[in-house]
Amino acid sequence: MSSIKIPVAKPYIDNADREMVVSVLQSDFLSGGPYLEKFEKDFADFLNSRFACAVSSGTAGLHLAVKALDIGDGDEVITSPFSFIASSNCLLYEGARPVFVDIEETTFNINPKKIEGAITKKTKAILVVHIFGQTAQMDEILTIAKKHRLKIIEDACESVGASFKGKMAGTFGNAGVFAFYPNKQMTTGEGGMIVSNSKKLLELAKSLRNQGRNNGDNWLESKILGYNYRLDEMSAALGISQLKKLDWIIKERRKVADMYYNELSDIPWITTPSIGKDRTHTWFVYVVRICNGKRDLAVEKLAKNGIETRNYLPVIHLQPFMRKMFGYKEGDFPIAEKISKETLALPMFVGLASKDIKYICDKLKKV
Ligand SMILES: *Cc1c(COP(=O)(O)O)cnc(C)c1O
Repeated sequence: MSSIKIPVAKPYIDNADREMVVSVLQSDFLSGGPYLEKFEKDFADFLNSRFACAVSSGTAGLHLAVKALDIGDGDEVITSPFSFIASSNCLLYEGARPVFVDIEETTFNINPKKIEGAITKKTKAILVVHIFGQTAQMDEILTIAKKHRLKIIEDACESVGASFKGKMAGTFGNAGVFAFYPNKQMTTGEGGMIVSNSKKLLELAKSLRNQGRNNGDNWLESKILGYNYRLDEMSAALGISQLKKLDWIIKERRKVADMYYNELSDIPWITTPSIGKDRTHTWFVYVVRICNGKRDLAVEKLAKNGIETRNYLPVIHLQPFMRKMFGYKEGDFPIAEKISKETLALPMFVGLASKDIKYICDKLKKV
């Protein structure tokens, strides 16, 4: 492996973050302390949601959302094949079947026009993924869900802070889930969050993350089968201080996106990202389409110059275990498959200098 000069992603950590984590280590509460509750409250406030439940990862959050909405054996859930694998795995954990619907070529999000054709008697929910930093077309999805009495889970793991018609990603459905892995817009190391306006759902999620225990005083009694999906205090403390600067982080990421746009929008074989109507983008990644068939070569050439990129994303239905379980094959979701062969995530993080962006774009243009 040649050495990486410019990574594809990098967390933004400052002294305030470090001091918060150290303050936990100077206390006696390394788990289940005051920072957990504060992080949940601050995060719910940020989104204008009523309740939040912090968990150990985005995947854990998705799993609990599925479980808390009573989605399980024999149920079908409509979702996008163009996503990180966790958004489908969380259904398989509970014996539910992901039913894929192809995506929009513009935003790479699920195509609402194709959802109704996939609904059957077994359909219980739509698991909407807000991919790369912008939401799906939520008006149309909410209308379909209402008409067919379907639940909605939002996988907002890549789109914290994004909005649709002024409403925050993660607050449209029965539950919204976020992730704070170090490559996301804000990080807690490992970590995640479930938000909901349903007190009942959130209390169930809080019990499930803690071995199914009562949240009340009989703390060793487990009423239901639960898990250990708790978030520790160091992570929660980091989350509090990261959240304080999230608006600024998003602004900085926008500057990087603007610089890429200026460099690349005129290149005929590169398609820069398009932002859907009524939406704001919070740039989890900056993904361009390489339309001359040389995407894989671009990854290789850029790597030789110390620039790390990613072929975001491989489609879920063609992952080996998915093919085996459900018999999916090439051609099943042609738009997602086409996009998946063309997309390239360029380095995107706070502090990526304009000279580095010029360097990346110069090398890319030469492919
Ligand atoms: C990051 C991510 C997740 C979950 O991430 P964890 O690594 O479990 O925290 C889920 N869905 C999508 C779309 C993601 O990008």
